[in-house]
Amino acid sequence: MSNENKITRRKLIGGIGAGLAISAISPALGSSIDDSLSAAPALEDPTTKYPRPPFKRQVQPWPALAGKMEPRPDHGEKSYKGSGRLAGRKALITGGDSGMGRAAAIAYAREGADVAINYLPAEEPDAREVVQLIKAAGKKAVAIPGDLRDEGFCKRLVDDAARQMGGLDILVCNAARQQVHQSIADLSTEQFDWTMKTNIYAPFWLIKAALPYLKPGSAVIGTASVQAYDPSPELFDYAITKAATVNFVKSLAKQLGPKGIRVNGVAPGPIWTPLQVAEGGSTPEKQTTFGQQTPLGRPGQPAELASIYVQLAASDGSFANGQIYGAAGGEGQP
Ligand code: NAD
Ligand code: MG
Repeated sequence: MSNENKITRRKLIGGIGAGLAISAISPALGSSIDDSLSAAPALEDPTTKYPRPPFKRQVQPWPALAGKMEPRPDHGEKSYKGSGRLAGRKALITGGDSGMGRAAAIAYAREGADVAINYLPAEEPDAREVVQLIKAAGKKAVAIPGDLRDEGFCKRLVDDAARQMGGLDILVCNAARQQVHQSIADLSTEQFDWTMKTNIYAPFWLIKAALPYLKPGSAVIGTASVQAYDPSPELFDYAITKAATVNFVKSLAKQLGPKGIRVNGVAPGPIWTPLQVAEGGSTPEKQTTFGQQTPLGRPGQPAELASIYVQLAASDGSFANGQIYGAAGGEGQP
């Protein structure tokens, strides 16, 4: 047995101190009990771990800033702890300034990856915080603002990110547009097109542009939604794009799997992010009671999904391909 895999007496005692079921851990499996487990955090009740509704009514001009939300979302700034799961990797994350994208950016950097983020120029204050957080993790941070509805920009974004990081092996297509329209009759072609361009054309352009960089072992991740499976009546166009995201994840997984590139998706439920408080992003009633209907009685925080984005990118999860991982507090699909 190598020294690395040996359970030392000191480690065993530490484990027992933490109340671990030592007998369940066999040295034959090559396990070792890390000293850090003896300082394992106490159990946390997910129903009270984060703010619960009612929330203060708040509307910000679209696309809204996380920094101006009350309460401020938790993207794992103070909590996410890495363990080298993405050491040396190079990731591009769209919508990396806030919400799920920021949570993934922080987690990826703390897991050892260089991270490029894309966002809209109006989101510069949020983006600057993310750049600082990536740098604080000792990793390279690349910030590339721009509008994903432009095919030329999508191509430049991928090339720029890959050039500045010296490669690309994780692409997270996470940016999205969500606007409420009570009736299909109120939904203009321009609005419909805006949603489609942001949520569906952009990933198509980005993934195409990224392909030449993606070597076997690379990962593409899309952010879908519970809306893909149970659409809200007022999110007609948005929900279509989320169903399409689930679908493109599954078809591309079949297309790119044989090349060693995995494609997976994350389907969040109600999560406390700028998308929900941006003008037109949701109804005022939905905003104040946001997340109340879930069995946990509250919305999720972006930080609660960070480890899913890590898992789907990390090589130890290498048999996950064409999967959609959910995080919705007990309602919805998958
Ligand atoms: P968010 O507002 O933090 O992130 C969305 C990001 O999209 C913005 O930060 C912005 O940078 C980007 N974006 C929008 N239009 C763009 C454009 N034209 N060009 C470039 N960037 C653009 O909100 P979020 O909730 O973290 O959203 C991230 C993903 O999560 C989205 O795909 C969204 O559909 C999905 N989602 C969110 C929820 C939720 O309840 N918040 C639920 C299910 C799915
Ligand atoms: Mg944002």
